[in-house]
Amino acid sequence: MTTSSAGPADAAAPHVPVRMCVICRERFAKAALTRYVKDEHGNLSIDASMTSPGRGWYVCDKPECARRFASYRPAARRKGGKNA
Ligand SMILES: [Zn+2]
Repeated sequence: MTTSSAGPADAAAPHVPVRMCVICRERFAKAALTRYVKDEHGNLSIDASMTSPGRGWYVCDKPECARRFASYRPAARRKGGKNA
């Protein structure tokens, strides 16, 4: 255990909002991600404004993630279900 100041260079990181890509689960600056929301039909569509209310899904710009997100289905939440 060390309390010295010789840590990695994370102290000077600017305060930017960070979100996690739902596919690769890496973290990116929110501005670098594409936000999806569910439309009235329950389909995921791009939230161009990034400000639509409700649950949002963030996907990074890796082609692999975009491809996998095409078949991504958000897990339906069940009441009281604690088991995965
Ligand atoms: Zn990703």
